Amino acid sequence: MSADKKLSKALEQVKQSVDDFSERELTEELRELLEYGVPPDQAAETVIRRKGRSDPAAAAGEKKLADAVPGERGLTVEARVLDRRDRTIKVKGEPREIVSGSLGDETGVLSFTSWNEFPFEEGDAVRISNAYTREWNDRPELQVGDYTEVEEIAGEDLPPAEELSSPRDVSIRDASRAYRPRVEATVIDVLDRSGLVMRCPECNRVTEGGECSEHGPVDAEPDLRIKAVLDDGDSCIQATFPREVTESLTGVTLEEAEEMARKAMDRGVVQREMERVVGRAVVATGRVLGDNFVALDVEEPESSPEDDARELLEALQ
Ligand SMILES: [Zn+2]
Repeated sequence: MSADKKLSKALEQVKQSVDDFSERELTEELRELLEYGVPPDQAAETVIRRKGRSDPAAAAGEKKLADAVPGERGLTVEARVLDRRDRTIKVKGEPREIVSGSLGDETGVLSFTSWNEFPFEEGDAVRISNAYTREWNDRPELQVGDYTEVEEIAGEDLPPAEELSSPRDVSIRDASRAYRPRVEATVIDVLDRSGLVMRCPECNRVTEGGECSEHGPVDAEPDLRIKAVLDDGDSCIQATFPREVTESLTGVTLEEAEEMARKAMDRGVVQREMERVVGRAVVATGRVLGDNFVALDVEEPESSPEDDARELLEALQ
C-alpha cells in the first residue's frame, strides 16, 4: 500500500469516530505515526484514543507547564529551554533531524520534541503556540509540529534558568515533575545486575558474555553501579546509582570491586556487597528518565532533632 493510501485509509477510520478536529490536524498526527512504521489501523486507533481523552471541543489555550496533560492540542506555553539535544532518527529509512529537550517554568518541567528547526539555546525564553501533547512514560510531552509557532520572548516573568534547573525538594510521586528532583528516601531493595557490570565501549550498553546486543563481541569495559528501589513512605521508584555515586555510597571503588571479584572468582560477591546499602536513608538528587530515577548525587540526610536527642542520650549513658 502506498504511503498516501495508508494515510487516507487511516484518516477515514479516524473521521468515523471523531469529528470535532480539523482534517489537517488529524492528518499531521497520522502522518507522523505512519512515518514511524505504525500500521494504518493501529495509527488510526492511537489518534482516536488521543482525541477521545482530550476535550474535543476546545483547544487547550495558554497553560502553565504543570497543568499540561497528554492529548492536548492548541496548547500555548511560555517557558525557558533548560536543555536541548539534536538527534537524527530514521523515518522510513531516511535520516531526519529532530530536537528534544526540557522546558521549565515556575510550576514545573515538560519534555518536548521538535520536528522542525528549533533555533533556541539553553536559557532562552520562548513562547510556543499551537503545540500539542502526547503521552510518554505516563507524562505529557509537548510536540512542536508543523503548525506550531515558536518565538523568543524577553521572559521577565520566568525565573532564570539556573534557578529552574537547581535541585528541588520533592516527594517521589512528584519527582518526574521537577527538572532536578531531590528526594529523601530509604533504599528498600538492591536489584539484580547491580555491582560489577561490563559495558560496550561504543554504546555504553551492558554486555552479556562480552557481547553487545548492538555491536556484537566487544572489548567490554568494567563499571560499577547499583540498581535500587527508593521509598519515601508514600511511593517508590526504581533508581540507578552510577559509578561515582555507588563508590561514595558503599565506600567501595571500582578497582576494589574488581579485586574482590577476582579473589572470589565470582562477581556475585560485589552484588552482595552492594546489597549492604539496603535500609540506608539517603537524600538523592537526580533526574527521572522514564520510570527510572538516575541519581547524580547522594548524601546522608541531615539528622532530625529526634536523632540528635537520641545521640545525646546515648553519649550521656
Ligand atoms: Zn554496543
